Amino acid sequence: MKPFDVYPINHINIVKGQGSLVWDDKGQEYLDLYGGHAVISIGHTHPHYVKRLEDQLHQLGFYSNSIEIPIQLELAEKLGKVSGKEDYQLFLCNSGAEANENALKLASFYNGKKKVIAFRKAFHGRTSLAVAVTDNPKILAPVNQTDNVIFLPWKDETALEQAFADNEISSVIIEGIQGVGGIQVAPENFLQKIRSLCDQYNAVFIADSVQCGYGRTGKFYSHDFAGVNADIYTMAKGMGNGFPIGGISISPKIKPVYYMLGTTFGGNHLACAAGLAVLEIMEQDNLMQNAAEIGGYLIEELKKFEQVKEVRGRGLMIGIDLPDTLAHVKAELLFKYHIFTGEAKPNVIRLLPALNLTKTHADRFLEAFSQAIKTAPVAEFNPSM
Ligand code: PMP
Repeated sequence: MKPFDVYPINHINIVKGQGSLVWDDKGQEYLDLYGGHAVISIGHTHPHYVKRLEDQLHQLGFYSNSIEIPIQLELAEKLGKVSGKEDYQLFLCNSGAEANENALKLASFYNGKKKVIAFRKAFHGRTSLAVAVTDNPKILAPVNQTDNVIFLPWKDETALEQAFADNEISSVIIEGIQGVGGIQVAPENFLQKIRSLCDQYNAVFIADSVQCGYGRTGKFYSHDFAGVNADIYTMAKGMGNGFPIGGISISPKIKPVYYMLGTTFGGNHLACAAGLAVLEIMEQDNLMQNAAEIGGYLIEELKKFEQVKEVRGRGLMIGIDLPDTLAHVKAELLFKYHIFTGEAKPNVIRLLPALNLTKTHADRFLEAFSQAIKTAPVAEFNPSM
């Protein structure tokens, strides 16, 4: 049997990592500004993270959710404190899609309504409800099609008001910064408008913080910039620094009953140990502040390149929008300068590095970027070269 080849072009075998650096099986070093798609939050193989997982593995790897699991309580308390939402409840699951799936379902249990507002270019995952609120018809199987989802243009307050008017909206799901959609920051007044309409019509505000959350922008949730509280925050990716864990943080006004939420693996001891290690390191090393500072520095420096169409984002969630003539730069960065970045269509380079990215590594990227944008595209790029 062979593994399913999701992205067949990048046959690079990464075998080792430390901080923001990774190495392939031939010993080649790479600067990782992608973090496996915003997953690596505290850097690769952080000693405290490794030790906490190792200790937990020796103690107890797993026991069923049917008993009390004190490490879940420890994680929930820490997360409440670091995120500033101490009165919220935490439900633990295993991925971003599962978090969104549960958030949408819980909202509908709460107000008994069916319709969901989502936005153009949104990405929320690939399970049935999550993919139904994702704006990509290619990944929506016929079985996932539903009339319950209304896609609205990004930032359009009038469309938003009209969609609410029939009082059938159960929830609104929105990324504070669209990630897959190309690093599009939700304007503060737009998030405030969603908040007030959700209050007026008893709808649930779901803040998808899977990619833009967990301190990446300099605030714990990027929706915090608007000064609004969401009713449910969904999270995953950076939460476990690579160990699969997701969660939903639920406002006290929604009171889930036990049968509404459930999972076998969610909240297992190892996942909680990984989650706690991440939060401890974030707190100890002031990583939200570092994300704001180094991210702010990168954004300012990148804005100085006149070839760049636009630089968008906050903290260490950055989109570099390039003209078609520079479409080759991402590959150039990887294969010539050995720097991993992400992408969004058509020509946006996405930076989603670990929150402890150093200034030295930021400068290493800026230098490589300044060289890469000077090169002309090769006629046909051959990644094996
Ligand atoms: N929401 C957002 C904003 C995401 O970016 C992603 C993953 N790209 C998801 C949800 C789905 O997360 P997962 O892949 O863990 O299911």
